[in-house]
Amino acid sequence: MSAGIQSELDLINRVFADGQQSDEQILQKVAQLYEEGEENIYARVLHVMCHLRLGPKEAQQKWQAILEHQKKLERTLQRSVGFRVALLDYFVNQSRDIKNPKVIEIHIYAETARQVATDELTGIYNRRFFDQALIREFKQAQRHHREFSLLVLDIDNFKRINDTYGHTTGDAVIAALGQLLRQCTRSEDTPCRIGGEEFAVLLPETGADGAIVVGEKIRKEFSQLKIATLTLSLSGGIATYPVDATKPEDLLDRADQMLYFAKYSGKNRVICYSRNKRRHVRFPLEWELTLSRPEGSRGKTRSQDVSIEGISFELDEPAEPGELMSLHLNIDSEPMELPVQIVWVDNNSQNRKFRAGARFIRLTEKNLTALRQKLPNHGEIRILR
Ligand code: GH3
Ligand code: MG
Ligand code: MG
Repeated sequence: MSAGIQSELDLINRVFADGQQSDEQILQKVAQLYEEGEENIYARVLHVMCHLRLGPKEAQQKWQAILEHQKKLERTLQRSVGFRVALLDYFVNQSRDIKNPKVIEIHIYAETARQVATDELTGIYNRRFFDQALIREFKQAQRHHREFSLLVLDIDNFKRINDTYGHTTGDAVIAALGQLLRQCTRSEDTPCRIGGEEFAVLLPETGADGAIVVGEKIRKEFSQLKIATLTLSLSGGIATYPVDATKPEDLLDRADQMLYFAKYSGKNRVICYSRNKRRHVRFPLEWELTLSRPEGSRGKTRSQDVSIEGISFELDEPAEPGELMSLHLNIDSEPMELPVQIVWVDNNSQNRKFRAGARFIRLTEKNLTALRQKLPNHGEIRILR
């Protein structure tokens, strides 16, 4: 049952109408699909019927042999036996491909397959299914030149929820999020529980913008759930095929990196890879700074975030984009002087302060090395978990 539960269930639905089709209808449908260009249809249908793995050519030959066998049986018995009875006799007594058969109704098999793919607590798909679905979605997107997005989600501070309210309440929160994922997604999307309090949604034919809308909707609705007296939030990461990755494992890795970054930068947010990859990640670090401006004025302030390329901080006086300044900092008693150029300035009317973003200029090798050492993961976006 491992090789593509989804594709097996699709076939059961298409060819067997979930167990409602007669032998004649199945034979007709298979012949029609073959005519329409599905060359491996015999192999796929035989696999659903008796779990034999055959190549497309071999499957087609066996199919013909079973039809011949059926005619022979019917001539001998002087009555109809049907394709599936002939198939069993053929594989057990003639070709001996099957040694210990078990015969069950196809809808019971389909139900078992669905259970194998389902997470018990939430009723949505489980990790096993997600791994297969990600690869399948990738192949389809590649074949049809379509984009798709992957959204990963993780409940914030879940340990605290368990510790304060107990596991039963923790489970209720997980189940409620599963329910929410079903409500907030379309029928063609695939919501999965991929870990304890970690979830993923595959969003076919959805670019980064669409995925952000879905992620934000889930984030907001989750925060409005009323369970005990809990304050709930979650964080998320998004990566999109083909702009962000050309391999399934890279897509998952990048969405995961964004989830990690969302946690790192304060939680309760959804961050998208394609919006962040060209820039370096900005880390929310508060460093004491002394600013000196070309006309000689000096002032103390604090950074708000820092990346390997630039820094943002508060200013008491206005500044202009393009203006050059020098920043002195002293972290771990290591003085550093960094020349910067202002890129943008925001006027915060509430406290009459200004916020500015600046990029580092003329960084010496020594300063760059020192700066990297002070940033988590050396300021690189690639964060391994
Ligand atoms: P963060 O905001 O960084 O995600 O913090 P966190 O506490 O949510 O993260 P962490 O991954 O460290 O903790 C997850 C906890 O979820 C650990 C585990 O005890 C709990 N957990 C995992 N699966 C289940 C489950 O099925 N039910 C319940 N009640 N708790 C679970
Ligand atoms: Mg977690
Ligand atoms: Mg968590």
